Amino acid sequence: MPCQTNSELNELILQAKRETEGGRVADYIPALAKANPADFSVAIIHPDGLCISAGDIDKKFTLQSISKVLTLALALCDNGEKYVFSKVGYEPTGDPFNSIIKLETNNPSKPLNPMINAGALAVTHLIKGDSVPDRIEHILKFVRKLAGNDKITYSKQVAESELATSNLNRALCYFMKQHGVINEEVEELMDLYTKQCAIEMDCLDLARIGVVFSLDGKDPQSGEQLLPAEVARLCKTFMVTCGMYNASGEFAIRVGIPAKSGVSGAIMGSVPNQFGIGIYGPALNDIGNSSTGIRLLEILSEKYSLSMF
Ligand code: GLU
Repeated sequence: MPCQTNSELNELILQAKRETEGGRVADYIPALAKANPADFSVAIIHPDGLCISAGDIDKKFTLQSISKVLTLALALCDNGEKYVFSKVGYEPTGDPFNSIIKLETNNPSKPLNPMINAGALAVTHLIKGDSVPDRIEHILKFVRKLAGNDKITYSKQVAESELATSNLNRALCYFMKQHGVINEEVEELMDLYTKQCAIEMDCLDLARIGVVFSLDGKDPQSGEQLLPAEVARLCKTFMVTCGMYNASGEFAIRVGIPAKSGVSGAIMGSVPNQFGIGIYGPALNDIGNSSTGIRLLEILSEKYSLSMF
């Protein structure tokens, strides 16, 4: 079913743009600095396959932190809950996503949750396979299945750009290696993690993954269970408690849906049993969330009573 351009959604984007102050594209990963801050696109996919969209939906972007939800789901499928949560905790943190402070002050040293960088690196460490190419292929296969798009791959350019500049993430890995959270070569893990973050798609793919989570892991077309309902439930809970960086509390109050954002300016939302939403707007607010994206979700939540709470 082709995605229909929706004029009401377009109006709401214009309103969200008017009501937000510009924002800035992420530049700590040099390749992301090339994004156009004026870009904006959104797609919404319902369980029956109905798709509405607005903006330039052909624009591709990298998942960045949104990939953390997907590798968490895969690691849970591969290793089971008990083993995954022996390596990473369940608790939100009020610190920035790349902070090292809690690794040092918590005893035993274990990342607080899988949505911050330390926790995501510990989860990526659990992805099975004999080599980095094997493991990224394993992740891609899973992502393609959730998105229903077998063309999805990663951007070599964005992955290389992050790998060349990712010293904070290296520091997190070395710290965790010292404390026994991970035991592989840091460069190998960094190589896999930066490729995972550079997985590229458009907002239709993202909305489709969002609707799979909305439907507790079911394929909206075939009804096939693509991932166990319990894994979808765990991922959505982390999206609510930790998905929107250290603005997750405010987002839960103002929007009230499971969502995850990335520094590329993408946001994936999963309104339980209703629809999946994919947003791309690279102009970020101070916390690192797409500023127009957040405002649009606030407007949609209010207008259509989307909050779970
Ligand atoms: N690849 C990014 C990093 O690790 C992801 C961060 C994000 O999107 O929050 O810094």
